[in-house]
Amino acid sequence: MNKDCIFCRIIAGDIPAAIVDQNEDVIVIEDIHPKAPIHYLIIPKVHVESVQTLEQKDSHYVAGMMMMAKKLSEKLSGDRSFRLIMNNGSGVGQSVFHLHCHFLSGKKMTDF
Ligand code: 5GP
Ligand code: ZN
Repeated sequence: MNKDCIFCRIIAGDIPAAIVDQNEDVIVIEDIHPKAPIHYLIIPKVHVESVQTLEQKDSHYVAGMMMMAKKLSEKLSGDRSFRLIMNNGSGVGQSVFHLHCHFLSGKKMTDF
């Protein structure tokens, strides 16, 4: 828990968020500025800034994020396509320095 971190504060319940799902390891919320009809953030319940600072002892959280993505995909319609994005570093647009994965679905995404 980092009291200066917005995602830690959401996990702690100090800041409201639209919670989609959660378990012991991860929480899923709706992104406040959605970039697709479905735009979730899959957030581990541990304060790790990015993959650059991820430690082996916390690696099970990443597996938990992927298994949560699988669970979320099972509720999608059609061919259940989705995109996962993880920004690591301000140079590629990371703005919240608590590891998270964007789960995007519901529109064609042709650009890489
Ligand atoms: P990043 O740019 O770090 O990859 O992604 C951070 C994401 O968090 C952005 O898409 C932004 O819209 C979202 N975000 C920032 N603050 C909040 C917040 O207080 N609540 C929610 N639900 N999303 C947030
Ligand atoms: Zn945090």
